[in-house]
Amino acid sequence: MIAVIPVRDGVPPAGADEAIGEADGEAVFIGSRADVAAKDLADHGVRFWTIEADLDPNAVAIDVAHALSTLDRSDSVVLPASPDGRDLAPHIAHRLGRTLYAGAITVSDERVSVSVRGGLAIADHQPAGPFVATLQLGVRGSERDERETIITAIPSLVSSSGASVSSAVRSDGVLPPDVSTMDLAEAPRILGGGAGLSDGPAFDLLGRVAMALQASMGVTRVITDRGWASHERQIGTTGVVVDPDLYVSFGVSGAVQHTSGLGQPEHIISVNTDAHCPMMQMSDLAIVSDANAVLHELATRLGVEAS
Ligand SMILES: Cc1cc2nc3c(=O)[nH]c(=O)nc-3n(C[C@H](O)[C@H](O)[C@H](O)COP(=O)(O)OP(=O)(O)OC[C@H]3O[C@@H](n4cnc5c(N)ncnc54)[C@H](O)[C@@H]3O)c2cc1C
Repeated sequence: MIAVIPVRDGVPPAGADEAIGEADGEAVFIGSRADVAAKDLADHGVRFWTIEADLDPNAVAIDVAHALSTLDRSDSVVLPASPDGRDLAPHIAHRLGRTLYAGAITVSDERVSVSVRGGLAIADHQPAGPFVATLQLGVRGSERDERETIITAIPSLVSSSGASVSSAVRSDGVLPPDVSTMDLAEAPRILGGGAGLSDGPAFDLLGRVAMALQASMGVTRVITDRGWASHERQIGTTGVVVDPDLYVSFGVSGAVQHTSGLGQPEHIISVNTDAHCPMMQMSDLAIVSDANAVLHELATRLGVEAS
């Protein structure tokens, strides 16, 4: 099996290390500054190939198919189920003429397990031949690979031939994502709100403070159940699995269904009136205070107006 890792400006997506692990350390990195991302993840793999290219889905499918045939590889392909991975996988599957398994939790040549019905059931498949799969983030986990990693560049078939993939579509560049709408799974900074924030408008303010800090807003299930935020903002086992560098929580107790979807943030700051709750226990900085007051103070200092 071989992993395909989409790269934007040298940054691999969340879940890249897990997809590489599932492919036993072999991966094709494709995108802008793919070599930088490959070097970054060198201690998770053993054999990497890099293709410098635009992340145009049709072009990527052509380049991946070409790379696999150049490398004489006819094995299955696994991508992280990140936004780019989910976008590209159907194009690659179509180009290779293979079955696509979307949102798998484990992948091997003999068996692919896909979580269905919102995580309530698992469907097992026995593939008849090589396939393409996307691997859900945060389920498998990753480990370091002690073997030496060899990184080889492969020219992009599409860019080097100057061939245009589609005459109807022209890419003029890639804009950075909007933190208020970007997929939480990709967000490097998250401000999370829980039941300690007292009402719906507090989440409007939390979203605007997050934006001022170039962060995205996440919430607990209690908040989505109350209808104060939409489900794609929910962090946890029945929400989105995230892996930010910084997580700042306001009035979140830290129930296991929430924290198991948190990944491994490098820094955690929490505001809670209960100094002993699990969220405070796992924080680098635990502020014992009213989360509503701290949020309003933060908003004032950042010049964010309450609506
Ligand atoms: C099958 C199942 C799946 C679930 N999936 C998820 C999931 O995906 N994601 C998820 O988040 N939850 C999930 N849950 C729910 C989870 O068990 C918790 O109930 C939920 O995470 C708690 O949310 P909370 O921290 O906002 O609320 P609470 O647990 O009620 O905690 C509120 C916190 O706010 C603090 N607080 C209160 N007032 C203030 C104040 N004025 N200032 C500061 N702090 C204050 C309290 O001390 C407390 O720590 C799931 C539950 C089940 C059974």
